[in-house]
Amino acid sequence: MTLDTESFSLLRASLQRFIDERLKPAEDILEETDDVPADIVSDMKDMGLFGISIPENYGGIGLSMSQECDVVYDLGHTALAFRSVFGTNVGIGSQGILMDGTEEQKQAYLPRIASGELIISFALTEPNAGSDAASLQTKAELDGDHYVINGTKRFITNAPRAGAFTLMARTGGPGASGISAFIIPADTPGISLGKPDKKMGQRGTKTCDVVLDNVRVPAANIIGGVPGVGFKTAMKVLDRGRLHLSALACGMAHRLLTDAVEYAKDRKQFGRPIGEFQLIQGMLADSQAELYAGLSMVRDCAQRYDAKGGAGKTDPEVSMLASCTKMFCTEMVGRVADRAVQIHGGAGYISEYKAERFYRDVRLLRLYEGTTQIQQMIIAKHLLRD
Ligand SMILES: Cc1cc2nc3c(=O)[nH]c(=O)nc-3n(C[C@H](O)[C@H](O)[C@H](O)COP(=O)(O)OP(=O)(O)OC[C@H]3O[C@@H](n4cnc5c(N)ncnc54)[C@H](O)[C@@H]3O)c2cc1C
Repeated sequence: MTLDTESFSLLRASLQRFIDERLKPAEDILEETDDVPADIVSDMKDMGLFGISIPENYGGIGLSMSQECDVVYDLGHTALAFRSVFGTNVGIGSQGILMDGTEEQKQAYLPRIASGELIISFALTEPNAGSDAASLQTKAELDGDHYVINGTKRFITNAPRAGAFTLMARTGGPGASGISAFIIPADTPGISLGKPDKKMGQRGTKTCDVVLDNVRVPAANIIGGVPGVGFKTAMKVLDRGRLHLSALACGMAHRLLTDAVEYAKDRKQFGRPIGEFQLIQGMLADSQAELYAGLSMVRDCAQRYDAKGGAGKTDPEVSMLASCTKMFCTEMVGRVADRAVQIHGGAGYISEYKAERFYRDVRLLRLYEGTTQIQQMIIAKHLLRD
């Protein structure tokens, strides 16, 4: 799946214009209202952003992973909350259906996900199952041709906006092979939402608990119709998501570095712009070099992902490299953000300057879709395998 070069160039140019003219000027609105303005969401739908990773025959734009990484890199140049509105539709919410769903499920859901008519969330994490997701406790018990689901999902991105969930629940015994992935409409009786989570950053993003109390779902809503393979589906989805997040981290690192360079040229101390001091130059140079390394990893890994067949075609080597990329890029943007705050001096601690806000925003990237420690475990397991 790939968009032809000319159409992709046009899409990217109009997206970059949209980011500069519409999103960057609205960054303060996110901070003030803790929400993304409805007219911006509507424009993002019109641009097709909810469907960039969904093939054209299901109503999307059908970008390759490499192209998606370019687009997400651009989106990293503004507040991350804008991307989050359609992030679950592009990534973790939709890809399980695309990779492993039946044709009927794809037809029923993907066009509405691609258009943005339906927001879909990914519900794996639970109060007692985070990094160890295979130990999840949400139970789905067969009752005739339905499952009855009980449990709680935690920190679910876009749950307050969602029309449906891709939700992992236990249909069998303990461990990964007892887990199935369900598609569950959000208005199914028995589903309720917790209060919105108050977070360190990324104001304008929405997360909360999803509580399931005797939720009856047709057995036909299991992704692919096959119980017991939901954990594999979830892991394939996360694999792909790691590249997406890495590209986002690089975009944000570039924005932070650009802002820091501008500040270093502008701010004068000791009668000179601070950018003339070698200690400031060292921080800028380190940030540029690390950003280049991260972006090179993203591009290389995305190309390998596409070469191996794209969505759902997992290759152990590419999975391991995606973990390396996620670990490096999300840690890298943390260091770049820290230096950007330092270069801004006291202003870096003041909300009016974006460095303070982005410093908080990027912290999440090291935690979700597999913490840095989980990426280290995946990489080491690959190295030490027989
Ligand atoms: C804002 C936000 C949005 C999120 N969105 C979603 C979503 O949409 N859907 C979803 O399903 N989940 C979502 N999550 C959940 C997220 O993926 C988890 O928080 C993350 O996977 C970590 O799990 P945990 O919080 O339970 O931490 P824990 O697993 O309890 O980890 C705590 C610490 O222990 C470390 N640790 C754990 N196991 C090991 C080990 N074996 N070796 C070494 N160190 C270890 C971790 O790295 C971490 O440092 C979101 C979280 C947040 C904060």
